[in-house]
Amino acid sequence: MVLSTKLEIVEGIMSCMPGKLLLSIAVVAILGAGAKSLDAASKSPAPQRHFEGIVDTHAHLVPDPLLRFDEALSAAIEVMDRYGIETTLIMSPPRATKVRGSYELDDFAAAARRYPGRFRFMGGGGGLNAILHGHADPSTVSAKVRQEFETEARRLIKAGALGFGEMSSLHLSLAMRHGYNFVPADHPLLLLLADIAADQNVPIDLHCDAAATERSTPDRLARFPNNPKRIPATIPPLERLLAHNPKARIIWAHAGTDHLGDFGPERIGTMLDKYPNLFLSLKIAGPRGATENKVLSRKRLDGAWRDLLLRHSDRFVIGTDSFYGGPSAVGVIAEFTKITEPHMRTTKVFLSALPREVARRIGRENAHRLYHF
Ligand SMILES: [Zn+2]
Repeated sequence: MVLSTKLEIVEGIMSCMPGKLLLSIAVVAILGAGAKSLDAASKSPAPQRHFEGIVDTHAHLVPDPLLRFDEALSAAIEVMDRYGIETTLIMSPPRATKVRGSYELDDFAAAARRYPGRFRFMGGGGGLNAILHGHADPSTVSAKVRQEFETEARRLIKAGALGFGEMSSLHLSLAMRHGYNFVPADHPLLLLLADIAADQNVPIDLHCDAAATERSTPDRLARFPNNPKRIPATIPPLERLLAHNPKARIIWAHAGTDHLGDFGPERIGTMLDKYPNLFLSLKIAGPRGATENKVLSRKRLDGAWRDLLLRHSDRFVIGTDSFYGGPSAVGVIAEFTKITEPHMRTTKVFLSALPREVARRIGRENAHRLYHF
């Protein structure tokens, strides 16, 4: 176990935290939040308004400075109980370098196993992703590097990971000290990971901010100094990854949070039609989220999103991207943990707006099928 300063841990979790969320801690509209109101609703004559037993496929823990996870796990259980989350898949945010403050499933798995059935794990965000981004230049990927990468990937699955995550292709910087990193999704190590995932029958959870074409960095992103002047195209390499091994299930993370305008329902629909191995995890933006192509507006589902979710109801899961930390969390860490509940409320509003059967699939059943638990 690695000792770490709080600052380093902040930087660690910042590698995945959208900056706009840091700015929008304001409470979002509440519809069906709270376990009590849901219990009451389940006995009411209109049960399709609410849905429980949710699987959250994408969340992170904020460990204390000594990388102890107990406090973060009990904070998670409290929120999960309140919002009807049956199981949460926890994973390290995608690290571009392995530094003090990084963590991997070995660090939290033992503690999380104290809550049988409530937590499951993904592996690779802390270790594999650092190897990947450490060899962003494909010419540095030697046979030895491939071997090291493959050994670590197979070890993670043996250690209990249900899949690989959170991995990253394009990760935009969305705040002043928020990291930018990029490798194309058809990087040789991601192609190798797809082959391992297919062989092991596990999915890959991939953060890949959607850019259909290369373009200059829009002003609202250019003000964050870690972003480059130009944003690379990410969708063509993602398509090559999907085509590379059709047996590798790729879960494109954070649908519903669109920073460049290329992650809308029409494009996602086209991709889903074309690639049966593509799935999406939904991170539903709240009313103040500075994102394009919103799923919800004034608690109502956008029409195009609704059509897509109904048409492909077996291809979406919930992935709130929540951060859980305990009372020792301070400063920015405390702010992260504060926005977890507004996120949960938005997610409940979203599920409540879906037809009951579709909510059941997206909220739970698809996750059980995809991750095999
Ligand atoms: Zn992410």
